[in-house]
Amino acid sequence: FNSLIKDKHQMESVSHLAAGFAHELRNPLSVIRGFIQLSGLTNNIEKYYRTILSEIDRMNEIIEDFLSLSRNNSRKLVQEPNELFQSLIPLIRSECILRNITFDYHFEKTNRKIFLDKSMIKQIILNLLRNAVEAFPEDQHDKRFKIETKALKHVYQVKVSDNGPGMKKSVLEQLGKPFFTTKENGTGIGLPLCKKIIGDHKGEFFIESKLGEGTVITFTLPFIEE
Ligand code: ADP
Ligand code: MG
Repeated sequence: FNSLIKDKHQMESVSHLAAGFAHELRNPLSVIRGFIQLSGLTNNIEKYYRTILSEIDRMNEIIEDFLSLSRNNSRKLVQEPNELFQSLIPLIRSECILRNITFDYHFEKTNRKIFLDKSMIKQIILNLLRNAVEAFPEDQHDKRFKIETKALKHVYQVKVSDNGPGMKKSVLEQLGKPFFTTKENGTGIGLPLCKKIIGDHKGEFFIESKLGEGTVITFTLPFIEE
């Protein structure tokens, strides 16, 4: 009987996930469709080019997240972490400029190395940025997104914060649940995926959030001990 209930819950999360996946993909798809239709009418594809491309990129990100959930992340490289974070700056900066968000960062240099899966760490940062972007109310003036890193004794610590609306206690309490989302078109795989990736790196992942003040996500990546 117990296993039956478990299966029922699993079935519910799977159908919830499938629905979220379909919704999330349908949004960019209908934007792309509309814009291609418009460009046909006005004979002016250049005008819509950028939006169409960015919507296609968004679809790619969503699919990538889903694939990563089931992927065994073992393509790790030995790397100095500061370098990896530096390499992400242009991408984060342009996303923030587009959305009127001030991007601040401070990355501590270190000689020590980590077993890193570069594309996975990039995915974490993009998911956290996406969540911050989606959380900011449209009328908020001073939107800030910040990434700070510190080399501690055994781990490289990464702190990602925003000054958005933060989360209610009831939301924070449910974050552990798979596929939990408060968004109409959310999938709820962003944070679970981030946790999984950090777990695969043998690090830790924490979420702090204060209503009306913002959200701070901290994760650690253990250094290779010499
Ligand atoms: P999704 O983005 O698809 O909803 P996530 O796992 O990425 O799934 O996030 C789960 C929920 O956590 C979101 O629906 C939102 O309610 C909350 N959340 C995540 N990040 C933030 C943030 N930076 N600020 C406010 N709420 C957040
Ligand atoms: Mg998300």
